[in-house]
Amino acid sequence: MGRPSDDRSTLRRSLRVGPKASKRGGGPAKPASGADSLLSATRKVKSVSGPGRVNVSALAEALERWFATAARDLPWRRRADPYAVWVSEVMLQQTQVATVLPYYERFMMRFPTLAALAAASEEELLGAWAGLGYYRRARLLHAGVREVMARYGGELPAAREARQTLPGIGPYTNGAIGSIAFGEREPIVDGNVARVLSRLLGLDAPLGSRASTEALWASATQLVEAATQPSALNQGLMELGALVCTKRKPRCDACPWADACVAFAQGLTAQLPRPKPRVAQAPVALLAYVLETDGGEVLLEQATGNLFRGLWSPPLRSEPDRALIDSAVAWTEVGRVTHVLTHRRLDVRVLHGHIHPAVENATSMPERAAIPSEPGAFHALGSVGDAAAGMQRLCANASAPRRWVPLTRLEAIPMSRLALKLLELLPRLDDAQLAMELA
Ligand code: SF4
Repeated sequence: MGRPSDDRSTLRRSLRVGPKASKRGGGPAKPASGADSLLSATRKVKSVSGPGRVNVSALAEALERWFATAARDLPWRRRADPYAVWVSEVMLQQTQVATVLPYYERFMMRFPTLAALAAASEEELLGAWAGLGYYRRARLLHAGVREVMARYGGELPAAREARQTLPGIGPYTNGAIGSIAFGEREPIVDGNVARVLSRLLGLDAPLGSRASTEALWASATQLVEAATQPSALNQGLMELGALVCTKRKPRCDACPWADACVAFAQGLTAQLPRPKPRVAQAPVALLAYVLETDGGEVLLEQATGNLFRGLWSPPLRSEPDRALIDSAVAWTEVGRVTHVLTHRRLDVRVLHGHIHPAVENATSMPERAAIPSEPGAFHALGSVGDAAAGMQRLCANASAPRRWVPLTRLEAIPMSRLALKLLELLPRLDDAQLAMELA
């Protein structure tokens, strides 16, 4: 890869400090100091080329100038109030912009203010979030806005220290809200920013290590402190990571920092950042019982444990249930689904059963919308013989709430992505509808 050949020679000279430092602003060249360079940020961490000596003010200036021309027009950039920034940053955690866009627009229509979200039930919140994944962040956001209502009268506090005590606001989200919504000089480091700065500085320590984390936050702090506009600087960092300094094939020829970048100069963009050591994902074997009626409904159960808590899914069991398998419901194994979480790899055998018409008729009574969960409830719905007994065994295994849901109404139910993958195995479900849910 060759060096860029644009006309940014003035900026190019100013990015480096030391003997060849440029005369910025027409004045005498300023010698590099700890405050002026990213040298102090890399002092404690090994760099592939020794400590970087980079003029921080020039870097900040170059990035802000680049962002002014390269920034995408994104809906959360049109509304920089603290609540909107908070929602967008939570949605963007571990999720691509293209995926977030339709969810963000719908979410803000449904919950336009912090007060509206605080007043919503968890089910309403999860319904609006369904399909985005990582539901814990949605619950934390919900807990956070409720705390803002209770403690701060519905106004997100401008003080960083006050925000950082709120549920769901970690150092990155706090810095994003502080810089974008309040214009404060607060740093941000997420995966994208870590990649950009690791390459710029040539950091040799693996991501997630103490040395790397300290160096990245120190560099991000120096940059935002040198910025003209903290909001533009931080959003520029995010945008550079998303559009130019991408994980694979970074477009260094379009990068405003190319002339200061250690990874580019050393041909190490493919090696940096050094990855985190892999976390072992424990295998977990599960059985899913997908029970369908002739009327096009499916039995869903709400998870009450840590896994997918609050979300609906066909009943999941960790062990085969002999009583259930021997019941009047004829189960057929229709496939396997693998679902990977941060620390676990779920291997799910999917069993499909068709409910006996007698049971279906009995449960067509008015109580059908919310099937009672107590053992024996199915007998109470009518004398339906062995099939009902099988259903009772199925449901007696769990204390979780259950309900019948028409396959055409799944979008109204907050479900895990695993549940959608399980239902995808049902032949009667409309392909286009499910594709939309899974998108
Ligand atoms: S020059 Fe290349 S590797 Fe360095 S920060 Fe820019 S895009 Fe990333």
